[in-house]
Amino acid sequence: MEKINLSDLTQMMMELAKDKGFGTKPEDINVAEKMLLIQSEVNEAYDAYRHKNMTGKHGFEEELGDVIQRVLHLCGIFQIDIEKVILEKLEINKNRTWN
Ligand SMILES: [Mg+2]
Repeated sequence: MEKINLSDLTQMMMELAKDKGFGTKPEDINVAEKMLLIQSEVNEAYDAYRHKNMTGKHGFEEELGDVIQRVLHLCGIFQIDIEKVILEKLEINKNRTWN
């Protein structure tokens, strides 16, 4: 499969959001609800891990994918260039120390 980047995935997520009515602009959504939905996907991922379901239906990897999809949806809505943001933060973290 051809490699796609986060910008491509964000665009695909926004097309899905448009088709399904998930919202494409800040005024279309309730940010708190979208944040909680991200949290619920994190919980689903942990539950899958606890039950040792790594790759199956609703498994750990699928739920982590759901987390990313929901995050990218928010990035699309707020026109956040998440690749740029992550690259900048990785650079900052190179020189950061954690106790
Ligand atoms: Mg899920």
